[in-house]
Amino acid sequence: MKYILIVGALVLIVFVVWKVAAPVVDPDVAAEHGLHWHAHLTIEVDGKNVPIQADIGLGAEEKPIHTHDTDGVIHMEFPGEVHQKDLELRQFFKEWGRDITSFGPNMHMQVNGATSTEYGRYVMHDGDEIVLQYN
Ligand SMILES: [Zn+2]
Ligand SMILES: [Zn+2]
Repeated sequence: MKYILIVGALVLIVFVVWKVAAPVVDPDVAAEHGLHWHAHLTIEVDGKNVPIQADIGLGAEEKPIHTHDTDGVIHMEFPGEVHQKDLELRQFFKEWGRDITSFGPNMHMQVNGATSTEYGRYVMHDGDEIVLQYN
């Protein structure tokens, strides 16, 4: 009886240590239990601000990526498991019904002050400041 308890305790300890030391990390998964993030998007064509409408993605069906206001804030409100591809900037343009390349022949992208060439494939994060300039 004592022996079984010791073995049981050891199995439990090994299991707990294994779980803590080596959590299952899938690089594709951005969050396991949902998230509510915000990124800010500015679009300029020839130096002029292009307005981003309120309620993009909030039709009959409420999409996880949407806007509430005309302030350029992209809301990412996901339940459950969230994958990196769900957070790509192109998902926002898809909800908007516009092509990211359609604003002008030359596109320049900045994320938090640094040039990016990921464009629609850029995976958004909470607090991102995204600027798209076209000319
Ligand atoms: Zn919302
Ligand atoms: Zn929000």
